[in-house]
Amino acid sequence: MTNFSSGRTSLNDSTEINTETNESILKYCYSEPSFIELVIFFTMTEFDLITHYFATQNQHRSDVIQNIGDDAAIVSPPKQHELAITTDTLVAGVHFLETTSPYDIAYKSLAVNLSDLAAMGATPAWVTLAITLPKADEDWIQAFCSGFFTLANRYQVQLIGGDLTHGPLSITVQAIGFIPCGQGIRRSQAKPDDLIYVTGTLGDAGLALQYLQDETKITPEHLSSILLRLNRPEPRIQVGEQLRNVAHAAIDISDGLVADLNHILTQSQVGATLFVDSLPLSEELKHLLSIEKAHHLALTAGDDYELCFTIPKHKQSEFEAKLSRIPCRYTCIGTINKKPGLNLCYQDGTLYQGPTHGYQHF
Ligand SMILES: [Mg+2]
Repeated sequence: MTNFSSGRTSLNDSTEINTETNESILKYCYSEPSFIELVIFFTMTEFDLITHYFATQNQHRSDVIQNIGDDAAIVSPPKQHELAITTDTLVAGVHFLETTSPYDIAYKSLAVNLSDLAAMGATPAWVTLAITLPKADEDWIQAFCSGFFTLANRYQVQLIGGDLTHGPLSITVQAIGFIPCGQGIRRSQAKPDDLIYVTGTLGDAGLALQYLQDETKITPEHLSSILLRLNRPEPRIQVGEQLRNVAHAAIDISDGLVADLNHILTQSQVGATLFVDSLPLSEELKHLLSIEKAHHLALTAGDDYELCFTIPKHKQSEFEAKLSRIPCRYTCIGTINKKPGLNLCYQDGTLYQGPTHGYQHF
């Protein structure tokens, strides 16, 4: 889906745009815009402008043999490593509100992909980017690149190619990372008696979404930090790397803790007991919501992009010593059981009675 060599506008293939026929360009347009619209969107000047922004990342990895500017990128993975590859699409009005800034759209579109790599224990290295834009807006693209490259540079990730088309706003990122051979962390390897951990705090992004949808109020002093949790999730790359050879299973929380932990339970053919009053809550969430509502959001709200993982009990002290060197909160919230099913209770044994539905894509 990226690095097409002909027939469409490609970040890898910028010199071919002027030789495209109108017919071939039209094939990739969502609503058959007028010829004039296409000429405006895909003139050489506009395209130069766009490739100028996307090709000027201040991050040059020595393992990138061919960067943007050819039919495809060429990279050189380190010896004795395996590649982890993931992709995610963010669609306007579905995954982000139309009012979201281009900086935040870019940041999040990259962050969710890096989060998937973190959940595998991978070190991110390269990304490709496919953007569908309603119009070529220089200010929008500049702000988008600023958000994208800010996060990419923080983790030494290089944009090595992509694709640009005209249509309703949609962003697809493919991220590629590497893992020492055999050390990738799957969802399917959780074992009975494992301890279940999560990073960070849960429910903040869900609260931000409720605020933006006019379902709740947030006091001004808490608003910016809560909105950042939705718009700029921090991929837990360093934690993921420390989980190699320690964690049995891991997943990132995109659809809600219950929904995502259930993926681990199903694929590992085990069950779990979660202590609801052990869930890590931010000071903002505790201040703004009743404890019942806070627990509900922590269990079910998506978009936090924290990691949930299981480790064998005998590695707990080794693991906690490793993680204490990383500035990221981590909390043990339960245990894996042999018997299938998810038990939600409080530490005193009382059962949790609240709702447990997470985000559904379809
Ligand atoms: Mg994921």
